[in-house]
Amino acid sequence: MNPSAPALFLDRDDTLVRDEGYMSRPEQIELLPGVAEALRAARAAGFRLYLVTNQSGIGRGYYTMADALACNRRLEALVFDPAAPDGRGRDRGLRSQVADSTPILRPATCDLRPEAAHPRGFDGVCIAPERPDEPSRYRKPSPAYLLERIAGDGLDPARCRMVGDKVSDLACGLAAGVPPVLVARGATGAPREDAAAFAAARGIPVFPSLSAFVSALLSRIPAASEKKN
Ligand SMILES: [Mg+2]
Repeated sequence: MNPSAPALFLDRDDTLVRDEGYMSRPEQIELLPGVAEALRAARAAGFRLYLVTNQSGIGRGYYTMADALACNRRLEALVFDPAAPDGRGRDRGLRSQVADSTPILRPATCDLRPEAAHPRGFDGVCIAPERPDEPSRYRKPSPAYLLERIAGDGLDPARCRMVGDKVSDLACGLAAGVPPVLVARGATGAPREDAAAFAAARGIPVFPSLSAFVSALLSRIPAASEKKN
């Protein structure tokens, strides 16, 4: 294991995929422009890729953890397996590990994968299923998942980024010591107003898309030689 590996921690909805609101069916998953190419380029440059998503629709009873996992499988197929863009025929599933739930009402699913065993998926996935008013170990802005992966996978937080479209994503990164990056909401080309204000007050960079951010990152800082940002 590289003891100081770089990584991207990635919000899902309106960062990687178009958010239709409480998405529960795989056919609703649609990548934002350039996302697949950007993530594959980042991985090729040495970045580990982690998905960190709040899915309060589970806690609200709108859909199940199984639905969320099915949506994520579709996302992974679209990003990492372009030869099978509809994801059909791929049912390797997620090797999920239920984290310590006390006192959490609905345990999060955190998927910890050895990189070599999952060349076509994220290096790790964390789904926080709680409603905002429920206690939660992993729901952003909690930095718990990032801190666990930094310690467990030998990541260098200064060479990592937390990328998302909401204040909770940015606050999560800050709390973990991982520099946050704000991207525009979905395909609108514009950031959320509250997130833009939060970012401006803290000098957090803003990009019109994940694709634009990754292009800038990889052109500015070759992953193999990046020391510190
Ligand atoms: Mg989002």
